[in-house]
Amino acid sequence: MSQEIGQCDDIAIIGAGIAGTYAAWRLRQQNKRISIYEYSNRVGGRMYTVQFPAIPDINVELGGMRYLRRSHALLHETIQQLGLPIKRFDLGSGPSPDTIVNVRGVHLRYDELGGNKTPYRLRPNERKPIDQLTWEVFRNYTDVLTTNVPETDKKFYVRDRSGVVMYKRSVQSLYHKYLSAEAQNYIRETNGFSTLSTEDSASLAVQTSSPPTESEDVLTVVTGFSSIPNELLRRFLRDGQRHSIKHNHDLKAIKKRRDGYYNLIFEPTISNSRTSQSKSTIKKCAKKVILAVNRLSLEKLDWQGLYQPRIREYITKAVKDIPAAKLYFSYDSPWWRRSPVYSDYLISDTPLRQTYDFGTSILNPSKSVLQAMYTDTDVSYWEELFNRAYGNETSGDFVNGKELDEVTKRYLSDIYKIPIRTIPRPTNAAVIVWKNYPYGGAWQTWMPGYIWPTVERQMTKPSLSDDVFVVSNAFNSRSFSDWGNGALQAVELAMPYFGLRRIE
Ligand SMILES: Cc1cc2nc3c(=O)[nH]c(=O)nc-3n(C[C@H](O)[C@H](O)[C@H](O)COP(=O)(O)OP(=O)(O)OC[C@H]3O[C@@H](n4cnc5c(N)ncnc54)[C@H](O)[C@@H]3O)c2cc1C
Repeated sequence: MSQEIGQCDDIAIIGAGIAGTYAAWRLRQQNKRISIYEYSNRVGGRMYTVQFPAIPDINVELGGMRYLRRSHALLHETIQQLGLPIKRFDLGSGPSPDTIVNVRGVHLRYDELGGNKTPYRLRPNERKPIDQLTWEVFRNYTDVLTTNVPETDKKFYVRDRSGVVMYKRSVQSLYHKYLSAEAQNYIRETNGFSTLSTEDSASLAVQTSSPPTESEDVLTVVTGFSSIPNELLRRFLRDGQRHSIKHNHDLKAIKKRRDGYYNLIFEPTISNSRTSQSKSTIKKCAKKVILAVNRLSLEKLDWQGLYQPRIREYITKAVKDIPAAKLYFSYDSPWWRRSPVYSDYLISDTPLRQTYDFGTSILNPSKSVLQAMYTDTDVSYWEELFNRAYGNETSGDFVNGKELDEVTKRYLSDIYKIPIRTIPRPTNAAVIVWKNYPYGGAWQTWMPGYIWPTVERQMTKPSLSDDVFVVSNAFNSRSFSDWGNGALQAVELAMPYFGLRRIE
């Protein structure tokens, strides 16, 4: 029997990540009955801050950890409005000139790449810093300099020398055609992230303008990145008596009723085990629905609006999930600062890929934190090790982590040039893999052949006759899905349907 309208939400928001909590916060003054339904028992989704025991002043960021003041203006403004304290993120948002790069057994500074020490057999015209090289592929082999359209649209008009519009090409096909195999290795291995050099990313996601000359302020939240969604939620709950959040609700299906309302079918979840133990379903209803979930959840959701052929294609083919994994260790001494090749951020071609010095505790100066590994794209190796050490838990003391410790230590010894026997055993570990349901990936990359703004617009309201909205940054056409700012932008696209002016 269907529920009475009086028991239904005016608005049901699915997902308590930053998109869902931001949507709730934006709608907080509408005097409506609004419920957030969240799969887990946690708020924040891919913003997930934890602390090691006895080190409360170092945020271990398992998901997002930094933002750019100018490029992420919407996120910055929101953080300011929430009154959350911010600080500089000292580790930056990518390599700086003195970042150490350890590739093919050689250690060199990032600003030495392209010079004599570069351990790649490059052609003379490929002996360039990476940004310069990737930009020159565009400059020399496409009409990017002469295409006379606004910068934002340029991506969809630029053609290569054979006349193919660039957005229809993959990065690899472009590099295959114009660069040596060694230059392709050089680009791939010296970039800490693999996302943009994966086989099939659309080529217009790479460098399409000359390298920027000044860098931006990189900031973070003093209390950790997950305090953004948590504070959004706190204010949403405070500002309306009919506002609520329900945890451990996994949305499985949406069915439209004859009265125009929607029935929402949930399965209860058991947190940590990440599996649904009970098959008994919970039914709720709502007048309007906001799906603040990721691509994979949309793919699995049973709702007729997502079965339309074009929408289905966008969900399954326009963007691709990119998994990522992170591994943090706490130690009783910052042994890595003894390294002859120390830098606070280090890129390597080992499975560690990116290693960050997260600092020494001020409250407990005998304790320091190392982000030993941060990798994207191929994470199966780490997933296997983590599962053996910790199962589904994200952190724990090091009793179970012997194999993980031994494997990681070997690579840490290589990248820091410190004898393996002098590296102490960690006291604690925190691990995560972003790959499985309900996340699917850490972020997405665009596949060749899709006009991003068109996909983004259609995904916001997939069915013209339904009041169901998608606010996933998976389809973001401006600041990409690897940034939280894109989640806020995705929510803003839906706000006019709720009578609110869109904030740019
Ligand atoms: C490793 C990593 C590093 C990153 N680094 C940065 C960074 O430094 N800076 C930055 O700005 N961004 C970064 N990002 C990206 C940023 O974290 C994400 O873009 C952003 O958090 C996405 O927010 P969201 O609300 O759209 O999705 P999510 O955070 O995924 O939230 C979706 C929520 O919906 C829930 N859910 C899913 N399906 C269902 C369902 N069927 N029923 C009920 N609930 C459901 C999930 O449990 C989740 O809580 C990073 C992400 C990762 C993973």
